[in-house]
Amino acid sequence: MGLSVYVKKRDFKRTPEPSGKKVGTKKELIFVVQKHHATQLHYDFRLEHRGVLKSWAVPKGPPLKPKDRRLAVMVEDHPYAYKDFAGRIPEGEYGAGIVKIWDKGTYKAVSSIDQGLRSGHLTIVLRGKKLKGEYALVRFKPRRPSGSGSRPQRRDWLLIKARKKP
Ligand code: MN
Repeated sequence: MGLSVYVKKRDFKRTPEPSGKKVGTKKELIFVVQKHHATQLHYDFRLEHRGVLKSWAVPKGPPLKPKDRRLAVMVEDHPYAYKDFAGRIPEGEYGAGIVKIWDKGTYKAVSSIDQGLRSGHLTIVLRGKKLKGEYALVRFKPRRPSGSGSRPQRRDWLLIKARKKP
């Protein structure tokens, strides 16, 4: 996906958000969840992958109990430096409102992230303060074209907390 959509949506003279020059270099992969008080409160769930943050907006927040699942809408890749962003996006800018870091940590991919993004099924193990253990991200199956010309929604995923290991 790259950062072109991210950059296009923002005016970096006005928003304090990072412009995305820096890429990930650390060995351990990181994740972050930002609580975003925008027009609609949501949580942004981000996974470092190939120097950027793959990103999903989770309206109800990530699930905390085993087997719980929450809608997670894939949004544009964000720059790696966004992992540290907290602050106020000014009125009139994309995503205007307050961003706070809700949780962060490292994660491990149980299987290939590239393949998971293609197939629509990621399995990861999170090591954060609030989010710990195995999670899956599963893309909704696109609906069959109804003939109305509407495209299947490819952006909707479920973020699922795995059941506890016996
Ligand atoms: Mn957001």
